Amino acid sequence: MAELGNPKNTIEVLQKYNFHFAKKFGQNFLIDTHVLDKIVRAAEITKEDYVLEIGPGIGTLTQYLCESAKHVFAVEIDDNLIPILQDTLSAYDNVTVIHNDVLKVDMNELVQTKCEGKPVKIVANLPYYITTPILMGLFEAHVPMKSVTVMVQKEVAERMQAGPGSKDYGALSLAVQFYADPYIVANVPPNCFMPRPNVGSAVIRLTLHDEPPIVVKDEKLMFDLIRASFNQRRKTLVNGLHNAGGFGFNKEELAKNLVSIGLSENVRGETLTLAQFAALADALKA
Ligand code: SAM
Repeated sequence: MAELGNPKNTIEVLQKYNFHFAKKFGQNFLIDTHVLDKIVRAAEITKEDYVLEIGPGIGTLTQYLCESAKHVFAVEIDDNLIPILQDTLSAYDNVTVIHNDVLKVDMNELVQTKCEGKPVKIVANLPYYITTPILMGLFEAHVPMKSVTVMVQKEVAERMQAGPGSKDYGALSLAVQFYADPYIVANVPPNCFMPRPNVGSAVIRLTLHDEPPIVVKDEKLMFDLIRASFNQRRKTLVNGLHNAGGFGFNKEELAKNLVSIGLSENVRGETLTLAQFAALADALKA
């Protein structure tokens, strides 16, 4: 099978199988070899590596990954792409296509049973409509990972790197900070995809920390606090957390805990650093 990363060969495959793009699955296939090269180079894949690809499409990036990796697991939801992948990947014996919704796959089990329990490298041109649930799901499930090299919407890449006070700062920024070091590899214009998305894109590499940059007693509580505070951006943190319910503290107790870690009781959630969210979680836990 010829290399797919160009418009001519991609169209040929689409026509051969009478494939129609499904908008609901966020299908924008890569048709630019320079971008494909950049993704694979940034992911630094070797023949020792197990790679997990989310959404292989017609197998364009998958072919590159198979060339460099020990084994590739590619999770694809769309029934119509499965026979195409069987064809476009037929030359490789180091790939397993998993026909499923990525949000339903038990990645920890996959890594333990199929990848010798070794940390995997995630590489993908992600379906943009579920970027955050995919990434948060991988992080929060503590799937053993070395790095995550993914194409995302440009604004989302910027959000991942944002700090307190910026309008882009949110739960995703804090999760990325806690788990990884982000690095934007390249900005990618719409004409590198078929069909063209109506947003700009960027490749971002997240290198997982060996140890988190801060210590927190109850990570889940910290992320519950973070999510609740960003869900109600214009409220003070005390009101936001109180309205969210579920934490079991009244406003006075929340205010007292904020003051105990050196913050004003009128502070807004979006001004807190990761270390301050961790301190608040530890104070409430105590
Ligand atoms: N990797 C291909 C490429 O770069 O040309 C396709 C990338 S396209 C942006 C996203 C892919 O994710 C599509 O193949 C789509 O069908 C698939 N997809 C969408 N939602 C999915 C889900 N929940 N689970 C697994 N795959 C999904």
